Amino acid sequence: MARVESAGDGEWMVRSVSPAQARKEYTCPGCGATVAPGTAHLVIWREDWIFGEADAIEGRRHWHTACWRGRSFRRSR
Ligand SMILES: [Zn+2]
Repeated sequence: MARVESAGDGEWMVRSVSPAQARKEYTCPGCGATVAPGTAHLVIWREDWIFGEADAIEGRRHWHTACWRGRSFRRSR
């Protein structure tokens, strides 16, 4: 199940991925490093994406849990 998180830069859908579900390698947008298979992490996509839910899910990103928690909102939109 995904949950909604309100952040300084909008509404985000956040879904936890268990180690058993993490079967592929992803690149974390927070640190640019690899999210290795078998690593518990988070899948993030925009809840308020104007192009619709399907497009938002297409654009979802895999983040290290710590990188998502520690990300900065200082970047302007
Ligand atoms: Zn990371």
